[in-house]
Amino acid sequence: MSATATRLLDNYVSGAWTPAAEPSGALDVTNPATGEVLARVPLSGAADLDAAVAAARAALPEWRDVSTIERARRLFTLRERLVERHEDLARSVTAEMGKTIADARAEVSRMIEMVEAATAIPTTMQGRILEDVSRGIDAETIRQPVGVCAAIVPFNFPAMVPFWFLPFAIACGNTFILKPSEQVPLTQQIAFEVLDTLELPPGVVNLVNGGREIVEGILDHDGIDAVSFVGSAPVAKIVYERAAKAGKRVQALGGAKNHMVVMPDAVIDRTVGGIIGSAFGAAGQRCMAGSVVVTVGDAHKRLVPALVEATGKLSVGDGSDESVEVGPVVSCEARDRIKAWIDKGVEGGATIVVDGRGVDGGNAEGAFVGPTILDDVTPDMEIAQEEVFGPVLAIVRAESLDEATAIVNASRFGNGTSIFTENGAAVRRYRHDVEAGMVGVNIGVAAPVAFFPFSGWKDSFLGDLHAHGSDAVDFFTKKKTVTSRWFSDGQGHGSYFVES
Ligand code: NAD
Repeated sequence: MSATATRLLDNYVSGAWTPAAEPSGALDVTNPATGEVLARVPLSGAADLDAAVAAARAALPEWRDVSTIERARRLFTLRERLVERHEDLARSVTAEMGKTIADARAEVSRMIEMVEAATAIPTTMQGRILEDVSRGIDAETIRQPVGVCAAIVPFNFPAMVPFWFLPFAIACGNTFILKPSEQVPLTQQIAFEVLDTLELPPGVVNLVNGGREIVEGILDHDGIDAVSFVGSAPVAKIVYERAAKAGKRVQALGGAKNHMVVMPDAVIDRTVGGIIGSAFGAAGQRCMAGSVVVTVGDAHKRLVPALVEATGKLSVGDGSDESVEVGPVVSCEARDRIKAWIDKGVEGGATIVVDGRGVDGGNAEGAFVGPTILDDVTPDMEIAQEEVFGPVLAIVRAESLDEATAIVNASRFGNGTSIFTENGAAVRRYRHDVEAGMVGVNIGVAAPVAFFPFSGWKDSFLGDLHAHGSDAVDFFTKKKTVTSRWFSDGQGHGSYFVES
């Protein structure tokens, strides 16, 4: 192990890299493909969070007074400098999280798209005005920053998910504190190296590494006005309730169990590609990963043999190898949990048609589990209901679109769903009836598009305003409505309007 391999990561507070003051400990950050320790991440404590909040509060007056176009210009610069570090960011994502390098590059591109969308802030942050709401009286709504905003993020998108929030928050004139996932803190170190070059007023962006203690500190802290969370459903609930109780604005994006409905007329070869990308891309660790296929009627016999054959050919290994199609899962704990889910599915009566339990990706130290397909799954089985968050696909049969839709809507989650068909009427009906926040039509992963809002429904989301797109501006601004009139005639004469 090299000397740099065990460096203890710093926080970034008030414009400077700062060691955690009183960490309660530190965790290894490992490469899940090899087991190599890449760094150690401190579990920062209350003093570190207090310092970040103080810096963010102190920076607020100056930053909100920077003109909107100048804030946008900083984002243009940020965009250019992230592009320069694109490959470093992607390699970091692969090293700490495991997804393939091609997938990591795509993630970094989406991260950068968030910055691009946020540069539109001089337009998107505009308010509204109506002249003559009463005689000679005008009303206008203006948008102002919410204040100090914090984001708590998961392991599966180390580059992109923090940027669902950061660029929009600071574009709107807020200051910002990020708590990265303690499993994957390295990529945001690079992002903050880039942010450091922008010469923002100290305290506009801050990064505090840590775990549960920092999360709870954020939820309770008097100095934080808004909280964005992305992670599992149980933690989303804790975050939503506790932050709301403390009077904060909150959006909490939670877990998922995404269904893909395949109609009998689906174009099978393209559908297979879409399903494989969705179920096994990022080793099934995307919030939009499809984890249940619902075949309608004859679709089962047309789809499953082709799906099984294509899945069996996927190469599993270290994601930094350009030829690998499925990388490891994030940790050996995750691998063991996922294998236990597969066991449970088989014990529950499913037929295993592709078994990834014995796959070691060429490295016994790695956290590998191969793509797995369970057929003959019924909607009442736990494997059909609970989030596995690994490369495991369940196949459920339905006789009609209505039955398929009922299966999908019975899920307590409603993050994303897809339908594969060439029948426009079926698409329209599904789009109308399905209870999910993101819908793909012949698209396996209804991925986030920076300039549209993104989120699920039901247990997959607690809050009102979704991430990015126009919702980001609504989330990161407070509306103020001003009603005004003027008593002179504008030509230096006195009272002009009659009271009404
Ligand atoms: P997680 O809930 O374990 O962790 C998310 C964040 O919460 C981390 O920063 C972690 O430090 C913190 N945390 C964990 N346990 C906590 C606790 N008990 N109290 C306070 N804070 C706690 O999630 P994860 O395993 O990092 O990420 C995977 C999950 O995230 C999956 O469920 C996935 O579906 C979900 N996810 C959802 C979306 C979405 O858009 N809805 C996007 C990405 C990931």
